[in-house]
Amino acid sequence: METGYQYRKRRVALDRSREFRLGEGKISAYASVALGLLCLLAVLAYRYPAYLTTIELRQAYDAEFLQQILKYGMYFSLFLGALTFVLNRHKRLGACGIGLTLTGFALGGYDIPVGPVEPVRMSLGVDWLILAFLGSVGVFMTLEKLFPKYRNQVILRSEWGLDLFYFCFNHLMISAILIYANFHASHFHWALSESVQTTVQSMPVWLQVVLIVLCADFVLYWEHRLYHEVRGLWPVHAVHHSVEQMDWLAGSRGHFVQVFSERAMVMIPLYLLGADKAALDIYVTFAALQAVLIHSNVNLRFGPLKYLLVTPQFHHWHHSSEKPAIDTNYSAHTVIFDRLFNTYHMPDKHWPAEYGTTVRLPRGFVGQLFYPLRKWLQP
Ligand SMILES: [Zn+2]
Ligand SMILES: [Zn+2]
Repeated sequence: METGYQYRKRRVALDRSREFRLGEGKISAYASVALGLLCLLAVLAYRYPAYLTTIELRQAYDAEFLQQILKYGMYFSLFLGALTFVLNRHKRLGACGIGLTLTGFALGGYDIPVGPVEPVRMSLGVDWLILAFLGSVGVFMTLEKLFPKYRNQVILRSEWGLDLFYFCFNHLMISAILIYANFHASHFHWALSESVQTTVQSMPVWLQVVLIVLCADFVLYWEHRLYHEVRGLWPVHAVHHSVEQMDWLAGSRGHFVQVFSERAMVMIPLYLLGADKAALDIYVTFAALQAVLIHSNVNLRFGPLKYLLVTPQFHHWHHSSEKPAIDTNYSAHTVIFDRLFNTYHMPDKHWPAEYGTTVRLPRGFVGQLFYPLRKWLQP
């Protein structure tokens, strides 16, 4: 850690024009559009499950039960749209929410029969997108409201739309990502060892989870470090670092090459260890929640756990453009490998004053998509 660095406090000014306040119709307007869109997507997923749902996820939920939730969602969306009209503002958004929900009703609503699904090789993860969005809004937005790090930071902060786009893209692509990751891991079949797998499977589930976390963390640490320290790789990863305000949505920003390669790399230890399904499920859930939490605008006290696990403060420092924090805190799950390989930066009481990259990236999706190519072709 660099000593003598003058840490500053981050100032976030409250942007009243982007703030949600009760009674203005803005909350109901946005909620009605979001819910209307989710309902329409859900109806489409029930109509075309082979193309718009994920095999792995279908096994984990009860489609008929979720259809009951959809029913309430559709009526609630109409209610929110109507409420927007009553509150007399943002009528266009209210009408849009109602229109989306009515389109959902016209396409079959919540009555589409649920049956066995003919599997296709590649599908869009519409079901994954809907469930992950509702879950994230429910858990992380609540945490951000209850324990905010920056109280003045609004939900509709700058570039929220861009990050929402990345969120949707990454979730819709889940099937393609898994196919690619499994294909990539299968190249390591020569390293499979029956005795390793038998030993792992003889361990209690909690120990299997610990083992998976450590092995995955080791792979992710080095993959991440290479993205930072190999000149040609940095422009791909820089897209993830271009966020300048951190919240639950910010972590979604990432070039698709990074998203695919990260999952492909982490699949190797999972494939070789051959742990029980229960241990894998716990790991995947833990990793997914932690990945969102560490980008969130939350200031939770983790007690002694902060010396072991990657926390929001730790990963916020990874996103800082301040000198002592550059190229530090690569770990995804535990802080062990950053400690071990001397890349740990965690000034106890301080949080970053600045987030982002030292050289600013293009601010749109297309610009960021081609940013690595532009950098590679630059003389
Ligand atoms: Zn990074
Ligand atoms: Zn990050």
